Amino acid sequence: MDHVKSLKCLICGAEYHPDAIEYVCPHHGEDGIVDVQYDYELIGRRIGPATLAENRDYTVWRYKPLLPVEPESPVPPLTVGWTPLYRADRLAAGLGLKHVWVKDEGRQPSASFKDRASVVAVVKAQERHAEVITTASTGNAGAALSAMCASVGQKNVIFLPESAPPAKVAQLLVYGSTVIMVRGTYDDAFELCAQAAKEFGWYNRNTGYNPYMSEGKKTAAYEICEQLTLTHSPLSLAGRGAGGEGWDAPDRIFVSVGDGCIIGGLHKGLRDLLALGWIKKMPKLMGVQAAGSAALYDAWRTGISAMEMQPIDAQTIADSISAGLPADRIKGLAAVRETDGVYLKVTDAEILAAIPVLARGSGVFAEPAGAAAYAGLVKAVEQGLLHPDERIVLLSTGNGLKDIASARKSVGEPLVVDKSLADVKRALTR
Ligand SMILES: *Cc1c(COP(=O)(O)O)cnc(C)c1O
Ligand SMILES: [Zn+2]
Repeated sequence: MDHVKSLKCLICGAEYHPDAIEYVCPHHGEDGIVDVQYDYELIGRRIGPATLAENRDYTVWRYKPLLPVEPESPVPPLTVGWTPLYRADRLAAGLGLKHVWVKDEGRQPSASFKDRASVVAVVKAQERHAEVITTASTGNAGAALSAMCASVGQKNVIFLPESAPPAKVAQLLVYGSTVIMVRGTYDDAFELCAQAAKEFGWYNRNTGYNPYMSEGKKTAAYEICEQLTLTHSPLSLAGRGAGGEGWDAPDRIFVSVGDGCIIGGLHKGLRDLLALGWIKKMPKLMGVQAAGSAALYDAWRTGISAMEMQPIDAQTIADSISAGLPADRIKGLAAVRETDGVYLKVTDAEILAAIPVLARGSGVFAEPAGAAAYAGLVKAVEQGLLHPDERIVLLSTGNGLKDIASARKSVGEPLVVDKSLADVKRALTR
């Protein structure tokens, strides 16, 4: 990994050789999350918009020279990444906006954004010859790790809160993970998983602890900029020679936030692109939290630091963004503060209402946490935060089939008829 310079502690700034520490900076217990530092000059000589335009590997591994893995490390065979970025003109028009895209992460192999992180976890664990990989999860991170492990025959143990939706539990069991359901919250499962990892020497994928998870997640930022340039922006194609010299960035990206790892990862990806000179300006990151799990929103609004945050009792129907003390709070706060973005909070009712509106306006069926990004966009419009000309990307982070109980709450009932055309007519006119 000659392209990785160090792991830098986000609390004290200490820098470590990637082999010198396993996960966190040893000076701060479990909290010392580190950030991977790269040699951008070296990377820029190996990869660029022009070479990428010719690259037919439509997975996250098209960006391998920008990822913290050995160049020759084998990667799991499942197709992670390069999810579609759809223009959603009706959705935009409904909000008085002109340019809205939806990136459908429900199309990932395990049907959520988490595959981007878990695929990197498996590569790192196998580089270290780990026998077992473990993670705590509200459901999706576990399902993602489970799928990636199944694809390479890697043993894994997943800790879940008992509130996890049945579809996510089913995924884990079908893929063959050892599933440990904790009578407690996600935060309890996280703590227990950390203890077990230490006790048994398992490779720990936990968000906000393992520094490589936000690195996997940053690939979504690369894709957004590359896809905007290559397929959606004739202006930039004319001006820049088919994306040969640079990429377009959107003005804002809306994403739901639980632990803060996705938004932190997006921030990292965008910082990489700025450092490489492939984009010219930093998009504003718009973090959307559920009102009942809004620790990062509160910290942002009151101006406190990540280290001052206290755990809250998180409650929301959007299980994937339920986090009492967000594990990646340092990166999650910095992502919004350093991009001049905004944190927004939306109620469970607004999240549920967003599911059918997003689906009907774009064709993308999202689980509650995915639809929350759209609910946040609605809120931002209501608060007058947006200009109609802004180019806005919404991340739909998980597939609607992950939680059909919530989906059914968001819509009416089907028409039920007797076996007669007359009854169909009656039903249709009722
Ligand atoms: C994990 C997840 C999120 C939130 O990501 P964080 O890194 O925890 O902020 C949002 N949506 C879905 C579907 C998720 O699985
Ligand atoms: Zn430190």
